Amino acid sequence: MRQDQEDPYQRRSARVYAGAGRAGRGPAGPHRGVLYDAVLLDRDGTLIEDVPYNGDPEKVRPLPGVRAALDRLRAAGLRLAVVTNQSGLARGFFDEEQMRAVHARVEELLGDFDAWLVCPHDDADGCDCRKPAPGLVHAAARELGTSAARCVLVGDIGRDVGAALAAGAAGVLVPTPVTRPEEVAAAGWVAADLPSAVDEILRRQRAVQPARDAERVGTTLVVRSDSAGDVLVTGPAIRAVAAGARRVVLLCGPRGRAAAELLPGVDEIIEHPLPWIDPAPTPVDPDDMRRLTARLAAVGADEAVVFTSFHQSALPLALLLRMAGITRIAAISDDYPGALVDIRHRVPVGVPEPERALSLAAAAGYRLPAGDEPVLRLRADAPVTRPALVGDPGYVVLHPGSAASSRACPTELAARIAGALTAAGHRVLVTGGPDERTVTARVAAAGGTDLGGTTDLAGLAALVADAAAVVVGNTGPAHLAAAAGVPVVSLFAPTVPFGQWGPYRVPTVRLGDAGAPCRDTRAASCPVPGHPCLSGVDPAEVVEAVRTLTASGGGVR
Ligand SMILES: [Zn+2]
Repeated sequence: MRQDQEDPYQRRSARVYAGAGRAGRGPAGPHRGVLYDAVLLDRDGTLIEDVPYNGDPEKVRPLPGVRAALDRLRAAGLRLAVVTNQSGLARGFFDEEQMRAVHARVEELLGDFDAWLVCPHDDADGCDCRKPAPGLVHAAARELGTSAARCVLVGDIGRDVGAALAAGAAGVLVPTPVTRPEEVAAAGWVAADLPSAVDEILRRQRAVQPARDAERVGTTLVVRSDSAGDVLVTGPAIRAVAAGARRVVLLCGPRGRAAAELLPGVDEIIEHPLPWIDPAPTPVDPDDMRRLTARLAAVGADEAVVFTSFHQSALPLALLLRMAGITRIAAISDDYPGALVDIRHRVPVGVPEPERALSLAAAAGYRLPAGDEPVLRLRADAPVTRPALVGDPGYVVLHPGSAASSRACPTELAARIAGALTAAGHRVLVTGGPDERTVTARVAAAGGTDLGGTTDLAGLAALVADAAAVVVGNTGPAHLAAAAGVPVVSLFAPTVPFGQWGPYRVPTVRLGDAGAPCRDTRAASCPVPGHPCLSGVDPAEVVEAVRTLTASGGGVR
């Protein structure tokens, strides 16, 4: 183990050490994984027993099953790095020589790592590497020749998960008795221990790779009903289908139409509301269903891939597709599908929606082509009308509303956030749909420019793409930001799981009470007086989150 010479990140940034496993390994090459190239591991409480401020190699005790779990990752071709806060260096409890001896002992017991990234600072130092700051994750990704989005970090406390998300990496929490309940509640991905985390990392990696590729067929009908956000998170899976089909026809609902227009890989769109999916359905009209069936038959699709959220059923549509003569149908269904589905796929809860959809595409034989990252993306050629009043890039977009009021930021809080961001020197653009103008006007009056009702979805996407950060709840614009690689301060109401619906593969800070009583209720309007999951957010936290996300190393694409 040696400290790299002339490291430019010494003062306020991570110390970088090559691990013993570094020898003979170049940057991640053509055999890179589909989702991940590297697993980053917290040290104390994750790999080894937590002995506070330990400078003694004799006290290194690996946690159960860790060596074998790490060897499974190594065998799968994943790079491994340790990312560790060691404020004991700043406080003088041990010196660098002692720490290196500890790390040598860890490698002796647990096998080689490709790199060690150490924050030697204390909270008071204001560095950019002490977790939950994202600096160690960015430094690890650089060392390993990959990007933060292609890393998954495993750690035992909220700081670990926070650092992962702030860098745009995935974060797995493996709680110990010292992990606080609110840290467990806030984590989008929780595993019982490191071996279980490794099992799930490898399972997710395999799940998006087809056992064998579909024969290149003529027309594939893909289906994603519901709202803009639902359609956007299905984008990677639709691109995978498009890579294996000559023609892709997308059936979407009216609420998702504008988002469907933004997706790459879609050749034709059919818009039709599905009364078993729409959140405010009209009664089922037999004539309307007959018209839809005839329209679907006219597509002449060789097969259909029906994408749904974890709480939606693909089966009613599968019946119509059968009646339309489609002979090969793939869908996720926990309910028994009988003869309605040819490829019945099942996914555990907690998987991010984009990966859940990618895994269905993989079950049907489709994969993203080489070079197409598993991230949200929009068409480059979407026609855009930008509103006046926007100014140069680098502003902060504040989007208080949501189609579901349970996921919206309370207006009074959004106004205080606008005021705090403006006071901190940010240019704030307040966005919202035509029906949210009253809210955006009230919010912008506290600081910022009111753009409520001035953009369509494509215009909003363009606006978001030039932002330094977006402050938004769990709603469509969060996914527009993810598609543009723009960091998100996520005011996330926990009505649905953060691990499934949080902004995907983009630097994110999650705020709000993840353990509020609305958790996992899927409620469209807040079931709890006072909207407590978000009303307790302090605007100063939002300002601090924007600072964290826009400091050097933020922004991923
Ligand atoms: Zn540091």
